[in-house]
Amino acid sequence: MNKLNDNWFSESCTMWPGATFSFEVKEVLHDEQSEYQKVQVFNTTSLGRVLVLDGIIQCTEKDEFSYQETISFLPLCCHKNPEKVLIVGGGDGGVAREVSKHPQVKEIVQVEIDEKVIEVSKKYLPFMAVGFQSKKLTLHVGDGFKYLQDHREEFDVIITDSSDPIGPAVSLFEENYFTLMKRSLRPGGIVCSQAGTIWNDLGLVTSTLDYCKKQFPAASYAYASVPTYPSGQIGFVLGSLDKDIIFDTPKLVFTRDQEIEMKLRYYNSDIHKAAFVLPTHVKYLLS
Ligand code: SAM
Repeated sequence: MNKLNDNWFSESCTMWPGATFSFEVKEVLHDEQSEYQKVQVFNTTSLGRVLVLDGIIQCTEKDEFSYQETISFLPLCCHKNPEKVLIVGGGDGGVAREVSKHPQVKEIVQVEIDEKVIEVSKKYLPFMAVGFQSKKLTLHVGDGFKYLQDHREEFDVIITDSSDPIGPAVSLFEENYFTLMKRSLRPGGIVCSQAGTIWNDLGLVTSTLDYCKKQFPAASYAYASVPTYPSGQIGFVLGSLDKDIIFDTPKLVFTRDQEIEMKLRYYNSDIHKAAFVLPTHVKYLLS
């Protein structure tokens, strides 16, 4: 149930019962049921523009960069030469924006299931949708799970920028999805999937990490601070075909000049290392 009372929008979801995050709305810019989900964009008093799908915040203008940079550069900077990258989901364009900045990336393929999310993001969220203008990018509208069934040994890195496991995204959190991703990677390939937080979705984190561990000789969990996600964090499961990979040590470290040129606002090599440091109550559970 999501309400807009007295210009306040409250996000609530069965995945985090009994608590909600609310923001004040200046203007409803878009409100439409697509083939797959309810797509809303709000202009707000304190978060800038906000994209909401099926009542759940996907990104806000204020803090989207921490998510987009982390889910992109953790796997990219762990890979020795990430030339070809697949993005599954990511209909706002933010991950394409970040991946296209990486100096070693030559080719990006993106598969987003909902054309409406792309269209609405281009219209109302140009600060993220700028990613769709990258010359490196080929964009397909379709189901990422089905796309992977037809592609083998093609990608160096697969980034799954999915919505939560409700509606069209359910299959992207299942064990078979990790089997398909593994098959679609070139030798030494790395996957990185949105995987929930230790505070609200510990069951989801452990199941996603377990599926990843079953398929990949090396797997780990990392997280970023995103104040407008439930619990203020979001986590990522990473898997690598290279059993000797050390996830918390980036192979490519950006210089300060590169950080400036790439307009990085969250990611740096210290954040990379810190992203894998877990609090005691989950450190041993997830190891
Ligand atoms: N950063 C956001 C988060 O963590 O909540 C995710 C943002 S992005 C908008 C998520 C996208 O995944 C949505 O546009 C949704 O349509 C897309 N998606 C969901 N299931 C999908 C599938 N099976 N294949 C491809 N895209 C999918």
